[in-house]
Amino acid sequence: MATFIVMLGPPGVGKGTQAKILADTLKLAHVSSGDLFRENIKNQTELGKLAKSYLDKGDLVPDDVTINMIRDRLKRPDCEAGAILDGFPRTPTQADVLEEMLAEFKGQVNAVPYITAHEDVLVERASGRWVCRAQGHTYHQKFDPPKQAGICDEDGSELYQREDDKVETVTKRIRVYFEQTMPLVEYYRKAGKIIEIDGKQEVEQVTQDLLSALKK
Ligand code: ADP
Ligand code: ADP
Repeated sequence: MATFIVMLGPPGVGKGTQAKILADTLKLAHVSSGDLFRENIKNQTELGKLAKSYLDKGDLVPDDVTINMIRDRLKRPDCEAGAILDGFPRTPTQADVLEEMLAEFKGQVNAVPYITAHEDVLVERASGRWVCRAQGHTYHQKFDPPKQAGICDEDGSELYQREDDKVETVTKRIRVYFEQTMPLVEYYRKAGKIIEIDGKQEVEQVTQDLLSALKK
């Protein structure tokens, strides 16, 4: 059975950072809905044109659009053994559809790490985030600066700050998260899948906590 791990937690808490490490360590694909939307926006696809106004405002993209995008992504061969899902599902409808999709793909949600931190921490992390144009490698101006300002260590491409990481929009995204995504914590808690992780610790400690909880 293929293994799927759903990363839950508010914007800026460190889901993407940890999802990449887990994907490498556990040899699973990393599927980030936000990265997929940003790639489509960069390539000016129809999906990108549709999604852009939602991302700019900090609103969720409609479920049907998001679900179709993820369904296509999960069909790719690198997801055969499973994936770390980063940013999807984000609504109860998406979670229900995920169950159906995984039944079709002979997989299941094995665990749901729920990473938390206080709102001040989230705003500080998101507003200091720098992302690489080429592949979405992520840095932080204070906590994880690149060797050379503005340049990605991994591929030399330009770093930029996300439009939706402005303090105003981050605050809005946190509100959207509480309204629309928080119900998933109860949804997965009832299924016995939630693993609570203290996200305010350093990256390495968060990873250790995740790996030791996932082993159980
Ligand atoms: P999310 O995917 O939840 O929005 P990211 O993983 O992109 O969060 O992290 C947001 C920002 O915070 C990035 O700039 C990242 O480098 C930084 N970051 C991630 N985890 C930590 C941590 N444990 N301590 C300090 N900074 C972190
Ligand atoms: P973060 O990691 O900081 O929480 P993401 O990169 O995951 O941010 O998401 C950025 C934006 O992409 C969201 O504000 C939303 O507009 C859109 N998005 C990402 N995932 C989903 C989803 N599952 N459903 C709807 N919209 C989404």
